Amino acid sequence: MEKHVLIAGTGLGGLTTALRLAKRGYQVEMLEKNERAGGRLNQVKKDGFTFDTGPSFFSMSYEFKEFADDCGIELPFRFVELDPLYTVNFSNSPKTYTLYKDLDKLAAQFAEEEPDFKEKFLKYITKSGKLYKDTVDKVIKNNFDSKLGYLMTLATVNPVHLPVLLKTFWKQVEQYFDSEQAQQIVSLIAFFLGRTPFDTSAVYTLLSHIEFVNDGYYNVKGGMYKIVEGLVKELTEAGVKIHYNTEVKAVKNSNGKVTALIDQNNKAWNADAYVINADAAVFRGRVLHRQKYSEQNLRKMHWTMGYLTFYIGVNKKLPQVHHHNYFLGTNYKDYSLKVLKQPDTLEKPYYYVNVVSKHNPDCAPEGCESLFFVCPVPNLLYKRNWDDRDTIVDSILADFSKRIGEDITASIVSRTVYTPLEWEKYFNLYEGSGLGLSHHMSQIGGFRPANVDEDFTNLFYVGASTVPGAGLPMAVISSKLTTKRVTDYFE
Ligand SMILES: Cc1cc2nc3c(=O)[nH]c(=O)nc-3n(C[C@H](O)[C@H](O)[C@H](O)COP(=O)(O)OP(=O)(O)OC[C@H]3O[C@@H](n4cnc5c(N)ncnc54)[C@H](O)[C@@H]3O)c2cc1C
Repeated sequence: MEKHVLIAGTGLGGLTTALRLAKRGYQVEMLEKNERAGGRLNQVKKDGFTFDTGPSFFSMSYEFKEFADDCGIELPFRFVELDPLYTVNFSNSPKTYTLYKDLDKLAAQFAEEEPDFKEKFLKYITKSGKLYKDTVDKVIKNNFDSKLGYLMTLATVNPVHLPVLLKTFWKQVEQYFDSEQAQQIVSLIAFFLGRTPFDTSAVYTLLSHIEFVNDGYYNVKGGMYKIVEGLVKELTEAGVKIHYNTEVKAVKNSNGKVTALIDQNNKAWNADAYVINADAAVFRGRVLHRQKYSEQNLRKMHWTMGYLTFYIGVNKKLPQVHHHNYFLGTNYKDYSLKVLKQPDTLEKPYYYVNVVSKHNPDCAPEGCESLFFVCPVPNLLYKRNWDDRDTIVDSILADFSKRIGEDITASIVSRTVYTPLEWEKYFNLYEGSGLGLSHHMSQIGGFRPANVDEDFTNLFYVGASTVPGAGLPMAVISSKLTTKRVTDYFE
């Protein structure tokens, strides 16, 4: 008889696990608390505009291709390489840096500030590449059965990288570059992990290799939500049913196994095995009531920052704005040290703007532009009151208008704002923390909440909150690791 697997959560981790398992012959069913699939990879459709709500690009495209091969399908969406990758503007200068993958074009951007940028960057990126190659298969794409097993694997990594373990991302970058501009732009990627270069390990400089050399960044034709629509179509064809508006609130168990997931209406959902795509730490704490993840202990863990995101439709074109743009201030270090905990950083916020309609005209009415703003902010542990949301949004819109040399405020015809309160409410993100558990050394690999439950042998986890970590490609790798756990269980 077919084995029945129930997956709670339709984030990218849940969806890709469901298809991998369905294609292996399992009978798969999914439960989702929201009325739509995708989790953080979602969309807002309003006033004729379409906005991506969370992810606006991805890296490691080969992980998506590997997923498609594993499932024996063509990828059900089309992605387009971004080159240039993005632009960066500092508030004290009219200059906009354009980040190209081509080293000569990239170095030309820093000709004045860092004349020997090319040589320095080559040295930096060679080291990042070595870090990537020496860890990706051993550490990132591996299941660990114990902390000891993880530490033993780490011990087999080339010891030449040991000094990097003891440094922050910033210290590593500072060692290679002298100008403030190069240091800040190269270390910006640490923010993609939901913390700052000043509290992220230098190990993650391997991301620079992924960003500039190994693969780059990709957009999805028609907007990022096409990933979800394509996967849901594949799942439907494979016979996977998704039950929406169904939130798991409890589990039933017997003899060391889960026997049912219980939803908000007290309905029991039975299967042979269960995969949780909700946050693996929060689920263990709030649903399974494990002491290790009690409210008190959850608070002590290292969480990523929150995001203030807003989705703005304007009734004019903005040809001077690129697809992906970062707007920074002049107090990088001070800002970074405060942004996670101190709301006063919001007086002079740093932010990112994505213009999805630039390459996807269907995402905005004729002659209009869809703008998606992301501003790093303290999560709800450090700022619970968001009554000032509109004041902050207005100040960013005014700053943006100044920087692009065109006032957009009178042209706004659509406006939606998500604070960490909405991110918490919609997707059960702990205290509105945008990327969930951080990649602190005590919370990665064998120290991250495991993808197999400690007590129930038929309960598994998938997604950004378990191994290997945050981001779309990591969710796809996570689904591969969890699929192996499930299939091993049934063998
Ligand atoms: C603002 C923002 C920008 C980002 N930008 C990028 C980017 O550009 N590139 C990139 O690679 N990554 C980006 N990320 C990170 C990326 O979105 C996540 O790492 C990834 O989408 C996580 O997928 P997941 O499957 O782990 O979980 P989620 O997307 O969180 O999905 C979990 C699902 O489980 C559901 N759920 C939760 N609890 C329950 C329950 N009890 N019962 C039933 N269902 C439940 C939720 O509703 C949700 O649908 C961004 C994130 C944010 C917030």
